[in-house]
Amino acid sequence: MERLAIVVPCYNEEEVLQISSQALRDTLTDLVNKKKIAEDSFVLFVNDGSKDRTWELIEEEHRKYPQQVFGVKLAGNVGHQFALTAGLITAKDMSDVTVSIDADLQDDVAVIEEMIDKFHQGCDIVYGVRKERKTDTFFKRVTAQGFYKVMELMGVKSIYNHADFRLMSRRAVEQFSLYKETNLYLRGMMPLIGYQTDKVYYDRKERAAGESKYPLRKMLALAFEGISSFSVKPISMILGLGFLIVAVSILAAVYALISYFTGHVTPGWTSLMLSVWFLGGTQLLAIGLVGQYIGKIYMEVKQRPRYNIEKVLTSEKEQRQEP
Ligand code: UDP
Ligand code: MG
Repeated sequence: MERLAIVVPCYNEEEVLQISSQALRDTLTDLVNKKKIAEDSFVLFVNDGSKDRTWELIEEEHRKYPQQVFGVKLAGNVGHQFALTAGLITAKDMSDVTVSIDADLQDDVAVIEEMIDKFHQGCDIVYGVRKERKTDTFFKRVTAQGFYKVMELMGVKSIYNHADFRLMSRRAVEQFSLYKETNLYLRGMMPLIGYQTDKVYYDRKERAAGESKYPLRKMLALAFEGISSFSVKPISMILGLGFLIVAVSILAAVYALISYFTGHVTPGWTSLMLSVWFLGGTQLLAIGLVGQYIGKIYMEVKQRPRYNIEKVLTSEKEQRQEP
């Protein structure tokens, strides 16, 4: 039976912590009773430098339920994506499979069972996908949809309506840990891992207690992070624009020269027209070109794994030598 770790990043979640601890422990107990996970499965709360009593509450839960509730205290606030990564990597060596979920219980704990079933069927990553955005404000809904559109346009693979509620097998977390980049956008990284995946659908609820820790500022920052960490398309767009303007400058040159020879143009207009268009175009072109190299350097310095082996078929002899 596999040991499950439920990883929960928490930032100033004192209002909801005990409620979610209870709900997650109940989920564990239920799954253990159904013989779907090992008895020593646990919840791992990651305190992301909270300023309130979150960590004290985690300690208290751990005292009360030493087998079921574990905690990690980060030295300061590093943000949801890093807190979650810290939790996953800590949990990796203690578990066979992890499920990450927010502390506020907006994601439906009931579908964790379905995730585990899919894991047993051979999936390494199972995405929790929300069915509708009923509980969101109009604003959040529209911005979120716009965000997915922009991501698609930029060529970033991401799962529609999936936040960070997901199951990952141990080897998926191990592979993920090879991505050393510090510009973290987990939702974009998961499709890069490439193992077998599936989705489960759920209705996202209101926060169980407390307020959102993701104000517009943080949402926009995450969106920018997502695009800039995965796509160098904006640079290519500059290059494209450079080409376009150089092309236009040729047309403008023809027009200016015709005007010069046929009409009465103010002295100096023709040469100004020619230089403004042509210089503007070549400058953009040059910036775009330099940008292409910077884009390549950017991709190189990430040092992402170049491939990810899912299975190897060899003779028994080689297999015995495996670590
Ligand atoms: N969170 C975190 N660090 C932060 C901000 C948020 O660990 O700097 C956690 C937070 O405690 C919660 C999760 O990230 O468990 C998602 O945040 P929230 O529910 O406030 O976001 P929303 O659902 O409103 O988008
Ligand atoms: Mg939330």
